[in-house]
Amino acid sequence: MKTANPRKIDLRRFVLPALLLIGLIAVNVYGRRDPSHEEVPYSAFLAELEQDKLQRVEIRGRVLIADVKAAGDEMRRITTKRLPGIDESKLVEKLTDKGIEFVGKAEEPSVLPVIMGWLVPFALIFGLYFFLFRRIAKNVGGSGGPFGVGKSKAKRFDATQDTKVTFSDVAGIDESVGEMKEVVDFLKNPERYKALGAKIPKGVLLVGPPGTGKTLLAKAVAGEAGVPFFSLSGSDFVEMFVGVGAARVRDLFEQAAAQSPCIIFIDEIDGIGKSRGGAAAFGGHDEREQTLNQLLSEMDGFDARTGIVIIAATNRPEVLDPALVRAGRFDRQVVVDRPSVDGRLATLQVHARQIRLAETVDLHVVARRTPGMVGADLAKVVNEAALAAARQYRSEVTQHDFEEAVDRIQLGLEKQGRAMSEEEKRRVAFHEAGHALVAMSVDKADPVHRVTIIPRSIGALGATLQLPTEDRYLLLKSELEDRIAVMLGGRAAERLVYGEVSSGASNDLERATETARQMVTKFGMSEALGALSYGRSRGARYLDAMGEERNYSEETGRRIDREIHQVIDLQDVRALEILTRRRAVLDAIVERLLEEETLNAETLQAIVVGVEMSEGSNSGTTGVFSAEA
Ligand code: ADP
Ligand code: ZN
Repeated sequence: MKTANPRKIDLRRFVLPALLLIGLIAVNVYGRRDPSHEEVPYSAFLAELEQDKLQRVEIRGRVLIADVKAAGDEMRRITTKRLPGIDESKLVEKLTDKGIEFVGKAEEPSVLPVIMGWLVPFALIFGLYFFLFRRIAKNVGGSGGPFGVGKSKAKRFDATQDTKVTFSDVAGIDESVGEMKEVVDFLKNPERYKALGAKIPKGVLLVGPPGTGKTLLAKAVAGEAGVPFFSLSGSDFVEMFVGVGAARVRDLFEQAAAQSPCIIFIDEIDGIGKSRGGAAAFGGHDEREQTLNQLLSEMDGFDARTGIVIIAATNRPEVLDPALVRAGRFDRQVVVDRPSVDGRLATLQVHARQIRLAETVDLHVVARRTPGMVGADLAKVVNEAALAAARQYRSEVTQHDFEEAVDRIQLGLEKQGRAMSEEEKRRVAFHEAGHALVAMSVDKADPVHRVTIIPRSIGALGATLQLPTEDRYLLLKSELEDRIAVMLGGRAAERLVYGEVSSGASNDLERATETARQMVTKFGMSEALGALSYGRSRGARYLDAMGEERNYSEETGRRIDREIHQVIDLQDVRALEILTRRRAVLDAIVERLLEEETLNAETLQAIVVGVEMSEGSNSGTTGVFSAEA
């Protein structure tokens, strides 16, 4: 790996010349003090004069310098201070009489001491500054001195030599890999795209939790396409000097343009791309904002056909400034999710390529034991297992090594609050199965596409994904009610099985309440309140407790709340009733979920059919298979 900062100034190159310069000056100044300059009293000078020993006298400023004949051919030089206020014409006469050569020189102030007096403190301050700066820069993970500050810290890897990462190194995130293949094709054959004038994505945003392989994937794209890979982190941009981040961005794009086609990878883009405004009032955000603006203008400025593709990664897409994800910028998003059990197996296999496994090792078992772990965790598991074997001088890694490695890493994750215990997993499974089963049991809910207990986005433990069959503009009251029932299904299942709900349903409740509120206040779907629109509006006549305007009275407000409550309660009872009636199906879905973690629509239906066949036809369900027919 070579570092891509040819222009970065290395301070070490300054240290030697600086020392030399200081030394030279010192020699110059002190060297002028000729040690043979003997300072003598004026009387001694006169005595020498009287004894005719003086050869030559120099009257310089306030001193007299005389060359004195010493023993033999030797010469001595003496100095003496001139006497203030004495008429020297006598001295001059005497010198003339004795035929002694004499010269007068006005005291030229020596330039060097002056320079020194000015230069030394300056050099000291400068040196100190350099020294401190280096330490600070190091602490913020930065580059060299102040001259290097504006230069981008992007590391450049020459893909053909240094990064040999390919898609075969990336496991368990096949969907994400699939979506990146187009980018590879474009980087390999830009001419084809150019000729067609096709619009190429400039920016791809990889969204997913840490350690899922976003960086790896970006590197693999560079590796597959054989193009250079510039990488840096969003946090690198935010420096202590305003304007530096922006300069870095400019420099990065300059470097990249010279190397195109290439990939620019920006990790943790939320570091610069956070939504503007909001906390800006607290100050200190100018820098980030400038950096962001520079990034936006660079992205707008370059033509995608030049062959630069910017890949950015974040695990917090929701905080990104909307301007970043607008068309022509990071308009393509690729989700990089936590791997399912198959994905984990594949990841383990990729990392196990480098180690020698005992015959008895079954990576399937390891994969099944590691739900919630991401690629980085699994890489660690393999490495820990190999280390354990090495510590004991064994030539192969055993299943036991893996077991222990999983335990150790799981413990670490639990400390970070990232891993789910078996208990929690079961609860999440019931919760998600509850959503799914209610969705399958009511008439007008969107069909269930997939259920999973693998933690997805941050905050959500599992997910039940429903796909709307068509885009809808008009929603019937019964449809909205069905939706609310589905939203409440997760919580209802928890209540049914455990007799108690968990905090995991808060988002469901929020959405259900919001839907119910709209039904009551916007859509006129409440008998009691009639076809009125309630809510904030211009010319509102009341202020609520929060000081917000509303157009209804406190009394009506209470009635609205009661109505919303009623809508929710009704659907809650309904969900609970459905799940109670179909408990056998619920349990079957849960068992299967715990085993496979993710179930698709077909599997779900197969489970329902299986249970109902074994129960006979007396169940009288209202599910998908006993529909209106
Ligand atoms: P992210 O950028 O999403 O935080 P990284 O790409 O930095 O994650 O992953 C760190 C390391 O973990 C990788 O270098 C690789 O060794 C391992 N890793 C992560 N995800 C995967 C994956 N999908 N397949 C194989 N290895 C992975
Ligand atoms: Zn839920």
